[in-house]
Amino acid sequence: MHCPFCNAIDTKVIDSRLVSDGQQVRRRRECPECSERFTTFETAELVLPKIIKRDGRRSPFDEEKLRAGMLRALEKRPVSSEQIEAAMQRLLKRVRSTGEREISSQLLGGWTMDELRSLDEVAYVRFASVYRSFQDVSAFQQEIQRLQNQIEPTEK
Ligand SMILES: [Zn+2]
Repeated sequence: MHCPFCNAIDTKVIDSRLVSDGQQVRRRRECPECSERFTTFETAELVLPKIIKRDGRRSPFDEEKLRAGMLRALEKRPVSSEQIEAAMQRLLKRVRSTGEREISSQLLGGWTMDELRSLDEVAYVRFASVYRSFQDVSAFQQEIQRLQNQIEPTEK
């Protein structure tokens, strides 16, 4: 990086070490032009992106709201807390790994549906009915019917 004292184009790293339990890298740098020394800190960018709503407004990523939505869909379903938390962590990891500053609510909703679908199909349909707001009611009813036909034999 440039020297903050004389604006020389390049500076030399003379020492590099992990700090904050390995969450940060501290580097000592020296400018070959003016010989000034300075320190930089490097941390991973883990800020969750903002959510772009359907109407174009932006809102901060709300982890609790996302969890609450999943729990509502999974209410009284045979899915353990550990499974839900693991799904939640996979989802957050997926969101963070985009590296984007903003993602659409549709994209987040789709990823949430992916997780719910692998946990429990009924929860998936409950969530989808709210989130995707099925264009036509009969398509939604068909989907429910299809799932009930699949599920009923194993529940007897
Ligand atoms: Zn310098």
